[in-house]
Amino acid sequence: ERSKLKRLKDTPANTLCGEHIDLLVNIEGPKDIAAARAVNADGVGLYRTEFLFIGRDSLPDEDEQYEAYRSVLKTMGKRPVTIRTFDVGADKALNGNTRVEPNPALGLRAVRYSLAEPKMFRTQLRALLRASAHGKLRIMVPMLAHAHEIDQTLALVDRAKAELRAERVRFDESVEIGGMVEVPAAALALGMFVRRLSFLSIGTNDLIQYTLAIDRANEAVVHLYDPLHPAVLKLIGATIQTGARYGLPVSVCGEMAGDPAYTLLLLGMGLRHFSMHPANVLEIKQQVLRADVGELAPKVQRILRMDEPMRVREAVERLAG
Ligand code: PEP
Ligand code: MG
Repeated sequence: ERSKLKRLKDTPANTLCGEHIDLLVNIEGPKDIAAARAVNADGVGLYRTEFLFIGRDSLPDEDEQYEAYRSVLKTMGKRPVTIRTFDVGADKALNGNTRVEPNPALGLRAVRYSLAEPKMFRTQLRALLRASAHGKLRIMVPMLAHAHEIDQTLALVDRAKAELRAERVRFDESVEIGGMVEVPAAALALGMFVRRLSFLSIGTNDLIQYTLAIDRANEAVVHLYDPLHPAVLKLIGATIQTGARYGLPVSVCGEMAGDPAYTLLLLGMGLRHFSMHPANVLEIKQQVLRADVGELAPKVQRILRMDEPMRVREAVERLAG
């Protein structure tokens, strides 16, 4: 089975109707690039930069970050590399973090943390922009909920660009900035983000956590964590549709994208960009190769209108034929 999958490495990920589906990888750093190349991924859909300092006592400085980002961009060549700004807080705490929060998942994490630590954010943005000269960088902002969070981030990007220009440091002037849809508020009021961003990526891990109000790290409620909950599917479906309406590419980079049980469902919702652990790429490609999107779309539209969990589950299983 493994060797049969291996043979798919150089097969283009096209559906039966001939549409190409982007199969991207989630990485934690340069160490994962070999695995991405081994499956011939179309690019990096999510680089979780917080792994640069998890378990360390000090933040990496600008040059250390620049080296890590540049090495990934260089090896990926013309393929896009989506680097997420630090997603610190909640399940990814910093060593020596002195902030203690009663509800860390609802606390100062991700873009909120970066905006509260402007020196740290500036260092990362400068490192990212400098690295943008070496490949096709896209910068992605995690956990957006408010329009002013992206406005402040874009202002900081502009300021970092102005600094680098003054220092005569090269960078990609047109680097794309995108955001993650991980909070239900963002999915429900997407208009305020599409006007400000170049691409969207759905973080289903957090979107499910926040939609269903279950801590994804709490064993006691893990049985309630359900990607097929009708509310979750409606938010994912609406995000993909809004992206299409505004001409903004949408990907899914949560665990759902790497689970073959959901590939046909997501394709039927209109998803064309999947980002996952490198180990899942070929298995997902196998699903893509057998997908008839024209046939799936109306079936999935019916699923999105269902509100009985058992029926949703059965209907999703039936998509596989
Ligand atoms: C997600 O929330 O789905 C996601 C991809 O981000 P992380 O798992 O790193 O929170
Ligand atoms: Mg997340």
